[in-house]
Amino acid sequence: MKQQFDVLVLGAGMVGASAALALARTGFSVALIERQDLDQLNNKLADEYDLRVSAISPSSQQLLNELGVWQDVRRLRCCDYHKMSVWHEHGAASMNFSCEQIGISHLGTIVENRLLQSVLIQHLTHLPNVTIFKEQQLKSVQQSDNEVLVTIKSGQLLQAKLLLAADGRESSVRELLHIPVTTGSYQQTAIVANVSTEKPHDHTAWQRFLSTGPLAFLPLSNGQSSIVWSADTARAEQLLQMSDEDFKLQLAEAFEFKLGGITSIGKRAGFPLNWHAADKWLEGRVLLIGDAAHGVHPLAGQGVNLGFSDVASLNQIVKSGEVIYQRRTLRAFERQRKAETATATHLFTALKLLYGRQTSLLCRARDLGMSVVDNNILIKRLVLQSAVHNMV
Ligand SMILES: Cc1cc2nc3c(=O)[nH]c(=O)nc-3n(C[C@H](O)[C@H](O)[C@H](O)COP(=O)(O)OP(=O)(O)OC[C@H]3O[C@@H](n4cnc5c(N)ncnc54)[C@H](O)[C@@H]3O)c2cc1C
Repeated sequence: MKQQFDVLVLGAGMVGASAALALARTGFSVALIERQDLDQLNNKLADEYDLRVSAISPSSQQLLNELGVWQDVRRLRCCDYHKMSVWHEHGAASMNFSCEQIGISHLGTIVENRLLQSVLIQHLTHLPNVTIFKEQQLKSVQQSDNEVLVTIKSGQLLQAKLLLAADGRESSVRELLHIPVTTGSYQQTAIVANVSTEKPHDHTAWQRFLSTGPLAFLPLSNGQSSIVWSADTARAEQLLQMSDEDFKLQLAEAFEFKLGGITSIGKRAGFPLNWHAADKWLEGRVLLIGDAAHGVHPLAGQGVNLGFSDVASLNQIVKSGEVIYQRRTLRAFERQRKAETATATHLFTALKLLYGRQTSLLCRARDLGMSVVDNNILIKRLVLQSAVHNMV
């Protein structure tokens, strides 16, 4: 027997769960399908910080606040950063930004991915118009002009007017519907770990560009820092294999001892870095959002923020009373969001190239560019406004 909903959302990651919440809060009946055991999420919120964290921009926080989840995230644990400092291994210039420069209380907040996901799921479980199918996977998708019909692993049939595919970078929906995807490898791996340092992080998001890739230190509320060290694949492999003691030394050196030595380090994990962009986001009654539609280099910490911008756009559409299932509405959404994420993808790729090269001419140009930005409050404000609004 078929179960009928207004909207099906596949994938209860940060983007899928927030999209489900936005639609459910506007009165839609929503089915959320997730392959993982979501009950485990809470159990995993132990004392130790999760390895996967995200810098959540003020714009994304505004959406999460509107959805009623942000105050719970703040009550649990997260860390605001008030300053950003960026510099390059070759060159003397640096760029330093602070929240006072644009009159806001903080530039962003570091949150563990699974904590944010868990808070979203908690809110969804309390809504009568939401059904969560956990530990379920998509088996097939069929479409007619007016409906989309999904079969899940248990054999249940779910019917709706729209399927939102938020099933991440390896999207099975994208594959089942043969939607082409353009991808590019940065030939790099991002190493993540949580570390303690001799000096306090000073609520600052630090990023040093090395010719082999950017190294970021992001502040955590327990005084530790979450590092994201992107390095060419062979170098990253070496860094992942070496002993904790050797890694701590290499890390402190790569960071110019900005926060002194590294006094302790937890687990390390590596993530291969690629960018990708689905050629189309809309196929009949199926719409791709979040990493299912687009993926960028983590150097600007914008991946999930772009996904939240997709959700904010959908939220605006439903709140304005427009019919979300109308092809015209979905096409307009696709056109607008696709253009915005394409700009971000190209910008991050260009930045990665610009900061990765080291001819003397480029070094001087980079230094000059950074000094111009650092000494011009108007340009600084422009850069900050774009970052705060998920536009870079
Ligand atoms: C090292 C690193 C650092 C990063 N740092 C930042 C940062 O600071 N700021 C930022 O904005 N972004 C950052 N990102 C990017 C960010 O992590 C991703 O953009 C974000 O997690 C994507 O969220 P999503 O919900 O779209 O997809 P995902 O998080 O991939 O969620 C997809 C969900 O769908 C489920 N799923 C998949 N397939 C199926 C299926 N067939 N059936 C049912 N369920 C399914 C999965 O289990 C998962 O729960 C970083 C990325 C990396 C690699």
